[in-house]
Amino acid sequence: MTDWQALEKKYYMQVAKRLPVTLVKGQGVRVWDDKGKSYIDCVAGWAADNLGHCHPAFVAALIEQAQTLTHVSNQFYSVPQVKLAQILMDNSCFDRVFFCNSGAEATEGSVKLARRYGKLHRNGAYEVITANNSFHGRTLAMTAATGQKRFHDPYEPIPVGFVNVDFNNVEAVMAATTEKTCAVMLEPIQGEGGVNVPSDGYLKQVRQWCDRKNLLLILDEVQTGFGRLGTLFGYQLYGVEPDIIALAKGLGGGVAIAAFLAKEKASVFAPGEHGSTFGGNPLACATAYANVKFIIENKIPEHARKIGEYFVGRLQGLRSRFSFITDVRGRGLLLAVEFDRDITDKVVAECIEEGLLLNPLKPNTIRFMSPLIITKKEVDEVVGILEKVLAKV
Ligand SMILES: *Cc1c(COP(=O)(O)O)cnc(C)c1O
Repeated sequence: MTDWQALEKKYYMQVAKRLPVTLVKGQGVRVWDDKGKSYIDCVAGWAADNLGHCHPAFVAALIEQAQTLTHVSNQFYSVPQVKLAQILMDNSCFDRVFFCNSGAEATEGSVKLARRYGKLHRNGAYEVITANNSFHGRTLAMTAATGQKRFHDPYEPIPVGFVNVDFNNVEAVMAATTEKTCAVMLEPIQGEGGVNVPSDGYLKQVRQWCDRKNLLLILDEVQTGFGRLGTLFGYQLYGVEPDIIALAKGLGGGVAIAAFLAKEKASVFAPGEHGSTFGGNPLACATAYANVKFIIENKIPEHARKIGEYFVGRLQGLRSRFSFITDVRGRGLLLAVEFDRDITDKVVAECIEEGLLLNPLKPNTIRFMSPLIITKKEVDEVVGILEKVLAKV
């Protein structure tokens, strides 16, 4: 049997902290490794596989489009792109979209748009305020936007134009605002930074401040979009409308596609000021269209909200049994469990043995981001495995 993990170590740049599982197949919330062992997948491609693996709704669209027209340039019109744009506008507060290929491209494009806005409408303002413990992607500029020093250090000097302030603190945003500021960019709930849930009024207060100062509010919903928090978009959960939103993970059903959407007032790119070769190509857009349509028509966000509440209840149950669980947090199906000690690696390794895949978020915190189609019965299975493992560590 081929040792794929040894070959990876030989040929791949050693940047990913991989867990010792080689996945070869997926169906629904389950994946299989190359030895035929099955797992419940609470990583879901880092919160991208919202309908689980190989969902028939988008697989059919993917195959059909692959056989019809895979890729053409944005020098021409193409039908799936327009259809996807339309369904996104019909189901959000935005007016226009740009399609790209990854979350980092979507956030970086959002920042470019905000800088254009600053140049045109705020005397050349270019600075973007972002939050500590945020995560906005891996391009050089988005590394600077990300408010975590460990992402900056290896690449210094990092691009200028970003100010990092404390999350969930509107005064910090106010204090950091100057005549150079053009926008504030936040995740509604910080994902990579710890599943950090802000107080209910925070985003509303930031929205009011942005209105007062003529700043754009960008929400990075790369992780929270498409039902993850129990609403189609996270901004709906907090009752605010951003000027720009960045989307990626849940958009394509596992196919690489991302987007940023903007209100008309913020849609200030002129012809030639932005572009992409693969962004919005027929294959990705047809797949994403089928994926988004299914999510909306089948009220998947509402399912995620209800199942998420059930999931949290079951995790709270574990908390009352195991005193070393210090916190259970999150919304919808973006959830985290925090321990009073650094047992993440052990817990995640033991769960793999038992057939459950989890995300080691921090040395003392694990993250759950299952497909949104997970059932109560499957949640029971997840919690059962976790309970068994926690009783041993
Ligand atoms: C994952 C993520 C990104 C980066 O997405 P990539 O597709 O990896 O470039 C940006 N912002 C947030 C909030 C994310 O969770």
